[in-house]
Amino acid sequence: MRQVHHFIDGEHYEAGTRTHDIWNPSTGEVQAQVALGDAALLDKAVASAKRVQVEWAAQNPQKRSRVMFAFKELIEANMQDLAELLASEHGKVVDDAKGDVQRGLEVIEYACGIPQVAKGEHTLGAGTGIDVYSMRQPIGIGAGITPFNFPAMIPMWMFGMATAAGNAFILKPSERDPSVPVRLAELFLEAGAPAGLLQVVHGDKEMVDAILDHPDIAGISFVGSSDIAHYVYKRGADNGKRVQAMGGAKNHGVVMPDADLDQVVNDLAGAAFGSAGERCMALPVVVPVGDDTAERLKEKLIPAIEALRVGVSNDPDAHYGPVVTPEHKSRVESWIDTAEKEGADIVIDGRGFTLQGHEDGFFVGPTLIDNVTTDMESYKEEIFGPVLQIVRAKDFEEAVRLPSEHQYGNGVAIFTRNGHAAREFASRVNVGMVGVNVPIPVPVSYHTFGGWKRSAFGDTNQYGTEGLKFWTKVKTVTQRWPDGGADGNNAFLIPTL
Ligand code: NAD
Repeated sequence: MRQVHHFIDGEHYEAGTRTHDIWNPSTGEVQAQVALGDAALLDKAVASAKRVQVEWAAQNPQKRSRVMFAFKELIEANMQDLAELLASEHGKVVDDAKGDVQRGLEVIEYACGIPQVAKGEHTLGAGTGIDVYSMRQPIGIGAGITPFNFPAMIPMWMFGMATAAGNAFILKPSERDPSVPVRLAELFLEAGAPAGLLQVVHGDKEMVDAILDHPDIAGISFVGSSDIAHYVYKRGADNGKRVQAMGGAKNHGVVMPDADLDQVVNDLAGAAFGSAGERCMALPVVVPVGDDTAERLKEKLIPAIEALRVGVSNDPDAHYGPVVTPEHKSRVESWIDTAEKEGADIVIDGRGFTLQGHEDGFFVGPTLIDNVTTDMESYKEEIFGPVLQIVRAKDFEEAVRLPSEHQYGNGVAIFTRNGHAAREFASRVNVGMVGVNVPIPVPVSYHTFGGWKRSAFGDTNQYGTEGLKFWTKVKTVTQRWPDGGADGNNAFLIPTL
């Protein structure tokens, strides 16, 4: 059985008596095991990070940037292997896995520009003979705790910005698909990063708690489900750390009566079912405005959904693959049961789906549920599977209200040809990322990613200038070089301009 080890001080490191099985979701077989670490292992990683961080931060930013450039080239050269490894543990199809790697790589590309991005501010002559300047200094050692659904992209969002800014970084990836994160750390070392700058410790709650309590870890970035995000945010803050903690989502797509329904159906199929719906920016709720829009949309959606091809992750013709674990398959199917019991209409039922030749794989067929209402638990909670729910709104006002009042506020989209409606919607909706005729509005790397409400705890986003802000602290210097003459100020009073 293949063993996935920790990556400490530039080397694979075996430790931990407990292990976690890593599935191949397409075949339903256990393909590897990962060792789960503890506080003693984390101490080792922190000691190594400490040894290297100060010198790394003292290098001029261009030198750090060169490591990022070299890393970018290595990722590109290894794209196919990374994508296949990722797909085999996650279950998403290989081309989609390439997207996972690519969207992380785009943050590395942004981090290549760290000398420009991290320049401070300077005011010449803020008072007579006084200059004020600010600099951004690394926080020291940062840690990232990441979810299973983007095992390449989300680690790169975090360690790309953190290390470029001069920090050492300890990554605790999901125990469900930990191999790609280790591979990224190996490639970062090969790119010229010193041993210990990027380390990977595997584990579950025990390791997460050790990270939250470690006195030498200054900042923690978390992405995962909301209850755990909230827990991480509270416990980390209690220990005096800065914490950003992104949580779950239930993104709505509002369809106005004037929308181009063929385009909407095409967009919705990809956004609701791509990656088996296991994306925090998936679009699992569609909100047609008016019954006529709902009926016209449903008529077009049904054949499009029925035509979806579910396949193993290395089937080049599959639209999507299995979900990540057998437990997750049961969970998604039980949400469909719940929706049925709550009185919603199961229009297309993906329960009990099996793929011929791969009967043990964790597949869930595409599911369409109509007449979902806001009091249903299946609407309030995240399903995180290939399930699209239709919630009908009577007018535009109700369509703005639905996503605005939902507990989650990660992403939302509006489909319309009416610029005024789109503009109103974007400005009024209580959600962090908005798409106008764009179903999955994940911002590019030089903007910034983050949701609202229970989709994110903390006040800084991932990547872009917000990422830099999170991984650095600002120091402001007020300096005066007196010429020796008296300046006539009364030193007992606060100087005012
Ligand atoms: P998860 O919350 O189960 O796990 C996330 C991380 O927390 C993992 O590293 C895991 O080991 C750790 N963890 C699990 N249980 C823990 C516990 N009891 N105490 C401490 N740590 C624990 O999430 P997941 O299933 O891996 O990922 C899917 C979730 O992530 C979905 O809710 C999805 O919406 C969310 N997500 C959000 C974003 C975003 O940016 N908002 C992005 C991707 C995924």
